[in-house]
Amino acid sequence: MLHYTEARQRVVSIVSRQRPALATETVPLAACAGRVQAVDVTADRDYPPFNRSTRDGYALRAADIASVPASLRRAGEVRAGEAFQGRVSQGECVQIMTGAPVPDGADAVVMIEQTEMKGDQVLVKRAVPAGANIVPRGSEARREEVLVTAGTPIAYPQISLLGQVGCAQVTVFRRPRVAVLSTGDEVVPVGDTPGPVQIRNSNSYSLAAQIVEFGGEPVLLGNARDEIKELERLVRRGLEEDLLVLTGGVSMGKYDLVEVVLRRLGAEFHFDEVAIRPGRPAVFATCCDKFVFGLPGNPVSTMVTFELFAAPALAILAGAPAPVLRFLKARLAAGVAQKTNLTMFLPARLEGEGSEVTVRAVSYQGSGDAVAVARADCYLVVPETVNQLEAGEWVDVLLRRG
Ligand code: AMP
Ligand code: MG
Repeated sequence: MLHYTEARQRVVSIVSRQRPALATETVPLAACAGRVQAVDVTADRDYPPFNRSTRDGYALRAADIASVPASLRRAGEVRAGEAFQGRVSQGECVQIMTGAPVPDGADAVVMIEQTEMKGDQVLVKRAVPAGANIVPRGSEARREEVLVTAGTPIAYPQISLLGQVGCAQVTVFRRPRVAVLSTGDEVVPVGDTPGPVQIRNSNSYSLAAQIVEFGGEPVLLGNARDEIKELERLVRRGLEEDLLVLTGGVSMGKYDLVEVVLRRLGAEFHFDEVAIRPGRPAVFATCCDKFVFGLPGNPVSTMVTFELFAAPALAILAGAPAPVLRFLKARLAAGVAQKTNLTMFLPARLEGEGSEVTVRAVSYQGSGDAVAVARADCYLVVPETVNQLEAGEWVDVLLRRG
């Protein structure tokens, strides 16, 4: 059985190799968070565009204040958005504000706190080296340098750069459309009142949220009964989109028909089992030139297997690099036992901050227990080789997205 890291790697290599050409579109800067940059964006000029003062103080020649206290003549001032007309000559200084361009002739800025003004004389009480409190022109980026590479997911730092270089409209990749198909005779729409042994289709909606988180556009196809004809019809419909994600119907039961239907449609299976709990029967296939994930229907299995296996496929189809699973090491607050030889993902909560972070598994009834996940904020990962984790041990924590 595949280790989850191998299964994930398989997804990444197959999807990267077979990714279709990606379409682009243009969106306003204010609407591009969460999108993926489609073209390289370069600096329109040097950054900073001038030698910028990082302090309120005095621009001067460092050599003039090599021995302090030193008295300099105040030759004027320069504010942000202004350029000083003239040069700073020997024995002079110019009062300067944060963000203002350093006047020619000056090579350092002394903070105002280290000075005293007496008439038009400024007494500098502390020496600074040349370059102090100045960010030189072009030191952050040179004109024409690529600032946001095609394929970069756009978050607020990229938005700042796009704004700085004047991209009011941003060329991004079109979001992949992800068909979501729930399966199961017991499943009813969330707006319905379920019978005593029916359950509502929550998976389609948790998946939709995860799909948005990883850059896709969910297309909810509802629920297919556990019946070949209906399932096949809806699977065919799902295969019209860029990616198809099914939930339920991938276990060993008599009415688990997802693999049967995919096989009828000529699917090539890349895996149909991974050594994890929850989520062991997860399926990854190619069918009619589209990628398909069949995720087990228990809500926690659906959530975990989406994040582990479907998310990297979606990210790559969205034009981004495969997301990196984010782990941290934390001390375990209370001991945990496990009896399987599968990697376990247990809903858990982080407590504390900084170097004092501990993690505590929350009360959990197994893969149907969405309540536990909602009370948790991460997964405690218990390796397949470990049967017992003791309180105080360093353990692996998977931070979840969304
Ligand atoms: P399955 O993977 O088809 O064996 O489904 C396992 C269990 O997951 C079912 O018995 C349901 O309790 C639950 N389940 C299946 N589909 C959904 C769904 N769309 N939303 C919420 N729970 C589901
Ligand atoms: Mg089912």
